[in-house]
Amino acid sequence: MSLKSINHVLGILEKQAKWQEQPFQRLLKFWPEVVGLVVAAHTRPLSIERDVLWVATSSAAWAQNLTFGRSSLLLKLNQKLPTPLVDIRFSTAGWQNPSVQRKQQQTVLPDEHPSYLGDEISRPEITPTKDVNTAFGHWAKTMRSRSHGLPLCPQCQSPTPPGELQRWTVCSVCAAKQF
Ligand SMILES: [Zn+2]
Repeated sequence: MSLKSINHVLGILEKQAKWQEQPFQRLLKFWPEVVGLVVAAHTRPLSIERDVLWVATSSAAWAQNLTFGRSSLLLKLNQKLPTPLVDIRFSTAGWQNPSVQRKQQQTVLPDEHPSYLGDEISRPEITPTKDVNTAFGHWAKTMRSRSHGLPLCPQCQSPTPPGELQRWTVCSVCAAKQF
């Protein structure tokens, strides 16, 4: 794939991400508060599609129980949402997700890697010779750091984990370019 088409795809992904951010991101924030911590530990909202909220559950039993209780849950959620949901679907599909598993394993040596941020998907390999990889690396970094309020790399101005700046004074992408 050429760099141009990669940039095109990334542009679309970014727009989608921004679009999805609004009601769904809000819901993610108050979800544990509305359902309670026990239920929150066994559920993970996946998306809102056509005013239907999709939620992954840790087991079929949870999906079943929550499906029975969904009308009262719907009322509580709709009090907090700008656009009311029409229904909630619970399913075990989508529960297995590497980023969530990683989140649960957060106690494992968090500062072992300078790029570690604690709760994100694994980093793409960054190869200094490949422009496409560099572009992707920067994009992935931007996506990952959106909610972290990270310092900017002095060279390329992309948000950078503080551990990278400490080690290389620039982000890992720029550091890789120097070698
Ligand atoms: Zn940089």
